[in-house]
Amino acid sequence: MKTCIAVVFLLVTNLGWSQAPPNGRQQNLSAYPESEASAAWHALAASYVRQALKEHTLDDEPVLNARVDAVMAAVGAAAAAIDPRFSASYWRAILIADFGRGASAFPGGTLIVDAKFVRALEFTDDELAFVLSHEVAHVIAGHAIEKLSFMAGQLGKDKAPTARTALLEFLTRDSYAAMFRPTARLQEREADAIGAAILFASGYDPQRALKLFEKLEVVETRGEGLGDEDTHDAASVRRTAVAEVFAELRQRVAP
Ligand SMILES: [Zn+2]
Repeated sequence: MKTCIAVVFLLVTNLGWSQAPPNGRQQNLSAYPESEASAAWHALAASYVRQALKEHTLDDEPVLNARVDAVMAAVGAAAAAIDPRFSASYWRAILIADFGRGASAFPGGTLIVDAKFVRALEFTDDELAFVLSHEVAHVIAGHAIEKLSFMAGQLGKDKAPTARTALLEFLTRDSYAAMFRPTARLQEREADAIGAAILFASGYDPQRALKLFEKLEVVETRGEGLGDEDTHDAASVRRTAVAEVFAELRQRVAP
């Protein structure tokens, strides 16, 4: 297992996420202090949970919650093993009915997962592990913080003096999401690649996890997608890319 973790670490480092901004995109990660940017996102996650409590949409069905908790613990441990910055992180996945997106991750370790999405696609633990690994990958690659830095670049620090104001502007005007879309697409590809490495280190079965994309493809074909076509590649394209990362990892750990 130790060799496996070391190899995964090497691969994700080669992907470039922990060093220079990959794919040549502009990043100004110092627009706001990291703790301030994380706190702004964390407050948003907390507001979603409060709203769900108020509207009774928090899903507390014990069997599904126990499954999600177990998978989250394994995925969190894999992320900690790959990236020491997250060795003390506590990750929790909260199931909310009708959250509206498949799943979202927030700096600070909170993931919100749409309970309907998990039930409708009847995820196995291996598939669920990929969903959570992909979300954790967004956090360890600093994607949410990159979004705020993009806003600082657009608005200037005088109009967005704090991370909170930058986030509010982003959420209230669709035009910014549209402008951010090319970067968001790159972030999704990166989250799939890093997520693949996390899943590989988590002990779940990569081959069985790939079935997730077959399920997503069926949903796509029916025109019942998650409305994320603007930022995500087609499920079949994602499957191929993730399978390639698994193949490379397998080759590197082979004796
Ligand atoms: Zn994503």
